[in-house]
Amino acid sequence: MVSYKELGLVNTREMFAKAIKGGYAIPAFNFNNMEQLQAIIKAAAETKSPVILQVSKGARAYANPTLLRYMAQGAVAYAKELGWEKPEIVLHLDHGDSFELCKDCIDLGFSSVMIDGSALPYEENIALSKKVADYAHQYDVTVEAELGVLAGVEDEVQAEESHYTRPEEVIDFSKRTGCDSLAISIGTSHGAYKFKPEQCTRDPKTGRLVPPPLAFDVLDAIMEQLPGFPIVLHGSSSVPQEYVDMINQYGGKLPDAVGIPEEQLRKAAKSAVCKINIDSDSRLAFTAAVRKVFAEKPGEFDPRKYCGPARDLMEQLYKHKIINVLGSDGKAC
Ligand SMILES: [Zn+2]
Repeated sequence: MVSYKELGLVNTREMFAKAIKGGYAIPAFNFNNMEQLQAIIKAAAETKSPVILQVSKGARAYANPTLLRYMAQGAVAYAKELGWEKPEIVLHLDHGDSFELCKDCIDLGFSSVMIDGSALPYEENIALSKKVADYAHQYDVTVEAELGVLAGVEDEVQAEESHYTRPEEVIDFSKRTGCDSLAISIGTSHGAYKFKPEQCTRDPKTGRLVPPPLAFDVLDAIMEQLPGFPIVLHGSSSVPQEYVDMINQYGGKLPDAVGIPEEQLRKAAKSAVCKINIDSDSRLAFTAAVRKVFAEKPGEFDPRKYCGPARDLMEQLYKHKIINVLGSDGKAC
């Protein structure tokens, strides 16, 4: 058993309370490899933004759980080396699907876990989330639970249909589970294809898809039920058209990829939404940069020559999100 406190990590409790009060949101970026982690930490350290490093079940399978944990520990040391005296870094399990997985992460040094029982019947979701919260709280680890179903595909999490969180259930759910934050469904979606073309309208000028707006009325009703309670948005990549265009220009094929417009996320960040998950956008940035190098320099075979530019583009993306979308820059001393 390793406590995250020994690793220099923090949980989300104080971070979220400050974010709600200050009208901004904390970025939750997924990582699977070194370049992504470097880019996240550099962006957070240079903008002085608190940050949540997310590890999914898929990332654990890809990179090895032990290695990922030591990478997060290394990230704290790296942040200090970059001049960030007291880094505010959370190591969070994204979409934990069982008590055992959550416990394993807590025992390994994670400071926060998500238990996703959203696909289960209501009472079973409560029982599972409570079991995880009871265990986690013994070690001062914070817990995110989910109510409502997001559509889309993310690693092994997928659903055909979404259904919005029911505001009338949130008080009962949060009280009985003891969760510290609540992931809700108000129209965000996982992946780079968040909406089917038939759900969107088309911009007559550019021919690009315009997604349906988020259900802010549902968010408002939830906040009315749970004033000041930390709310989390998953599936909140914006799928920047410049990366999609770059990918398609250099031999890729991503027709009609579409995300959540940044102005809607900006609006959400000012509310009790205090954690916004962004994964697909960094995947797109990485792929766009790598494709460009491959197309322009077919003789290149040193991975540093294409992973390096990918890292730079991801760092730019993370800084943009922190400064221009979430407003979390300068919030960590
Ligand atoms: Zn998610």
